[in-house]
Amino acid sequence: MSHKIIKVPMGKCNSYLIATEKGFIMVDAGMPDKINKVKQILKEEKATLSHINLIIITHVHYDHVGCLKELKEQSNAQVLVHKSEADLLIRGSTNMPKGTNSIAKILSKISNKFFPNFSKFEPVLPDISIKDEYDLAPFGVDGKILHTPGHTKGSISVILAEGDCLVGDTMFNLFPNTVFPVFANDTEELKQSWEKIKEYDCQRFHPGHGSSFECKKFIKSLNKYET
Ligand SMILES: [Zn+2]
Ligand SMILES: [Zn+2]
Repeated sequence: MSHKIIKVPMGKCNSYLIATEKGFIMVDAGMPDKINKVKQILKEEKATLSHINLIIITHVHYDHVGCLKELKEQSNAQVLVHKSEADLLIRGSTNMPKGTNSIAKILSKISNKFFPNFSKFEPVLPDISIKDEYDLAPFGVDGKILHTPGHTKGSISVILAEGDCLVGDTMFNLFPNTVFPVFANDTEELKQSWEKIKEYDCQRFHPGHGSSFECKKFIKSLNKYET
């Protein structure tokens, strides 16, 4: 089962569409008010929102669920999330995650203290909540979803048999020498998740922030992390 990955720029973060034999799988639902971007890209593929069958939420942060309610309503797609974050989706709010460097740490503290409503979004009831793994074959693509906690407790990554890995915020491609995320609630857990991802020998990585990158950059970042 072949597929194609299409990047959807959604403001400061990326969503992706995976074109499969059975329609589209969307990974993440971007910043608010960007639904036209999704429509436009689907139009170029001669498709509409109704061709999306599944929306995978890599984790419940406002920049990944901003258009989710609208998208779900207009596409009728099923929404999938890790079970440990389903309640956040239903509640419609999250905290800013912990920073992994000094500037991000300060930013995170300030925003949680002074802007507790900063990360509010339209609540959505998920259709599927997963635990460790989830097979994507019924949606027309060889691949699976893997629980990769660290950035948040319920972060998940999509691993496709042809060598693509869609990682959400488990990796950030914003710096020249590393893909280590700027924010992560548990860096030890994150490292274990990276080790788990490594097992799959993925060739191309597609992050929530920054451009797609090759396996080499991931391995280099992982080796740096281990020392
Ligand atoms: Zn995030
Ligand atoms: Zn993000």
